[in-house]
Amino acid sequence: SDGPADMAPEVWEKVKNHPCYSEEAHHYFARMHVAVAPACNIQCNYCNRKYDCSNESRPGVVSEKLTPDQALRKIMAVAKEIPQLSVIGIAGPGDSLAAGGKNTFKTFEMLAKKAPDLKLCLSTNGLALPDHVDTIANYNIDHVTITINMVDPEVGQHIYPWIFHDHKRWTGLDAAKILHERQMLGLEMLTSRGILVKVNSVMIPGINDEHLMDVNKAVKSRGAFLHNIMPLISDPAHGTHFGLTGQRGPTAQELKVLQDQCEGGAKLMRHCRQCRADAVGLLGEDRGSEFTIDQIEAMG
Ligand code: SF4
Ligand code: SF4
Repeated sequence: SDGPADMAPEVWEKVKNHPCYSEEAHHYFARMHVAVAPACNIQCNYCNRKYDCSNESRPGVVSEKLTPDQALRKIMAVAKEIPQLSVIGIAGPGDSLAAGGKNTFKTFEMLAKKAPDLKLCLSTNGLALPDHVDTIANYNIDHVTITINMVDPEVGQHIYPWIFHDHKRWTGLDAAKILHERQMLGLEMLTSRGILVKVNSVMIPGINDEHLMDVNKAVKSRGAFLHNIMPLISDPAHGTHFGLTGQRGPTAQELKVLQDQCEGGAKLMRHCRQCRADAVGLLGEDRGSEFTIDQIEAMG
């Protein structure tokens, strides 16, 4: 098909077979996340490090952490069982580019040799992104997701208590300002090279809900082709840093009102299921528990 009226043909060509980006493709193509990136370089107030990064994943679910070698074995085993497997993503459980992105790029390097037909994608908070754009382009990673929750450090300081950057820890407004600048720079560097960028935002009532319209404009003007607004999923064990009483998530109605207001901005993706960092299968299904590394090693 020609794709949506508001999407450039060259973008549609890249996304039409991508289960995370195309409403149609997600019924026919499978994706798989491998959780090879345990470290993170920032602290989000909504994160509980015991669980997966909310960049891509439903919080409150613990993923199976793998070494790059284990990830490769698991991917090859899944590819045999699920022929629709077309996309391999790295989305945590921490940040895929923290710690120099070592495990992430090692995994992609091995995959590029063993299974060059698989599409590769990664998601990141963006802090380390400008340092890795060349590597991302070299590995032919043509889909990147950046989680961007603010474009104003005044807002950002209430979301991020600290970041670790340039060998030191930054807090408050300084931290939010550096993160913001690095996110915008990374986004511009990727889109100027023709790498597809989706932006995820977590909607946090009373913190960034009204501000996300500005985020939508800022990421659209820098070439993001999708802006996916996800609800904060509130869980007493998750994100208590917002205060002693915890922070509520948005209601379904509040989420829809915001998504409607942003329509016509960067095209919103409403079918994202916030899969966990080791999800396996067609979108909306998760066969991850059939493919744990123990089971795969037992298969030989
Ligand atoms: Fe796709 Fe799931 Fe990732 Fe959302 S969380 S982008 S649906 S794989
Ligand atoms: Fe947690 Fe992800 Fe934020 Fe890192 S970027 S603190 S892993 S939610």
